[in-house]
Amino acid sequence: MLQLTCPNCGPRNASEFRHGGVAHARPPVPESLDERAWVDLIYMRSNTTGRQTEWWYHTAGCGLWFLADRHNSTNEILQTYRWQPKTQTGETRDSH
Ligand SMILES: [Zn+2]
Repeated sequence: MLQLTCPNCGPRNASEFRHGGVAHARPPVPESLDERAWVDLIYMRSNTTGRQTEWWYHTAGCGLWFLADRHNSTNEILQTYRWQPKTQTGETRDSH
């Protein structure tokens, strides 16, 4: 049974959550991208095996969107955390 730890509610069965896809960094200046670059950013996925950061939504709980680092071949959840904006010193994470 796959279990995820919601940053608000704690460990829960994966059936309480909705997968939101792989998380990708947003372009620093979105206005600078042309149409082709937007298509590549939104639709062209690498589909690799290994550790990836994903969006998850707690549908049967608190309604929080959060991030989870998961190995997509073993299904191991390495950590879950709230999204935090990057700071001058780097990204901060409230991981579980
Ligand atoms: Zn929750």
